[in-house]
Amino acid sequence: MRVAIVGSGYVGLVSGACLADFGHDITCIDRDEHRIAELRSGLVPIYEPGLAELIAANVAEGRLRFDTRLDQAVAAADIVVIAVGTPASDNDEADLSSVHAAAKSIGLALDGFTLVVTKSTVPVGTGDAVASAIHAARPDAVFDVVSNPEFLREGAAIKDFCQPERIVVGAETERARALMSELYRPLTQRGTALFMTTRRSAELLKYAANAFLAMKISFINEMADLCEKAGGDIADVARGIGLDSRIGPKFLEAGPGYGGSCFPKDTRALAAMGRRYEAPQRLVEATIAVNAERFTRMARRIVEACGGSVEGRRIALLGLTFKPGTDDMRESPALGIAEALIRAGARISAYDPQAAAGLAGLALSEDAYAAATGADCLVLATEWREFRALDMARIRDIMAQPVIVDLRNLFDARTMRALGFEYRGIGRPALD
Ligand code: NAD
Repeated sequence: MRVAIVGSGYVGLVSGACLADFGHDITCIDRDEHRIAELRSGLVPIYEPGLAELIAANVAEGRLRFDTRLDQAVAAADIVVIAVGTPASDNDEADLSSVHAAAKSIGLALDGFTLVVTKSTVPVGTGDAVASAIHAARPDAVFDVVSNPEFLREGAAIKDFCQPERIVVGAETERARALMSELYRPLTQRGTALFMTTRRSAELLKYAANAFLAMKISFINEMADLCEKAGGDIADVARGIGLDSRIGPKFLEAGPGYGGSCFPKDTRALAAMGRRYEAPQRLVEATIAVNAERFTRMARRIVEACGGSVEGRRIALLGLTFKPGTDDMRESPALGIAEALIRAGARISAYDPQAAAGLAGLALSEDAYAAATGADCLVLATEWREFRALDMARIRDIMAQPVIVDLRNLFDARTMRALGFEYRGIGRPALD
């Protein structure tokens, strides 16, 4: 099938590379000329494990190409996928300006029956708005609009796209359902579930999925606070409840709060939808409030570990991205906490294996040891695997004070204390 993908970010590029690998003919489009120039010269503008290799292989096979203009690719396409960003706007609702702009351009370029697929995360009813925008741009266009929310996770995006737990398609016509079944046949014939529903249900269920996961995180973080005060261990509590198959073991790791390009904006957008439709989403509102307060709480914990003030103190910050395996720093807890510490007068040396830039007032170091040199406190903010292999005796010796605040419970508390560190984790009793 010929597919044009509008928006070549994390979702557009991964979807494009994987669909090309299934054998489809793909054009990835982006309005960012620099991004397309890089892709055409063989550079991949984002870090995602395995993506560069997959793109290179499919470009070489002639199944994948890149363009700044969408006219030709859209005119030739059987399916056009919208994968542009939908960031939060000032009133918490999703900013749909890129979706509307893409819909209008697609409408102007359509030629013959075309299926327009919204893969961006969009509020309920956006499929109707996309159809209206296309119709307004080209009253004679013959098209259908389906919702096909994406569930990939950055850091594991290719595996998630190629071996998803489910594919969700919200479609209103048999023709649209048949085309989507054809697009994903390489996966469904290997047993992947293709869940067909209505367009509105598909739009809503993407937000419901993200909000539910975010709620699990806020829940376990509040339980971790209770463990600390009451003398329990959150790891045991999480393991114990996770053994119940109705609860499940995943997404029960206490930490500095959720971040990234999806959970924060999607929970806010769902809460805004609840207000708009007068169907309050109180659990989602509470999830957001708990998470917002979490960054301040974590910063306070670091201040306490430094003896009550970080004024003039050096903090080594390990990890800046919102999770390991990505270079994405959008709404990263590490940055929120760093900002609070900088405001309180701390000097921060940070190291991250992928982050290319930090914040004003934050110095980037070339490795974890350089960041830790002379530091009064080491804060582990993102659980990159390589941090497990650090020579912690060396870290202890180069720090000014051997103090660790481990926001991911990456290190073993007893081992750290045996090495002479003053160690604080999350949701663990103060003294073992
Ligand atoms: P991104 O910011 O990485 O990429 C979006 C791209 O779209 C940018 O390169 C931008 O230049 C381009 N763009 C914007 N408007 C355009 C237009 N009119 N024409 C052509 N190109 C245009 O965003 P992303 O992380 O890939 O997310 C895309 C959507 O997918 C969002 O709605 C997001 O919520 C959703 N989503 C993201 C993830 C994730 O892990 N990143 C997972 C699932 C769903």
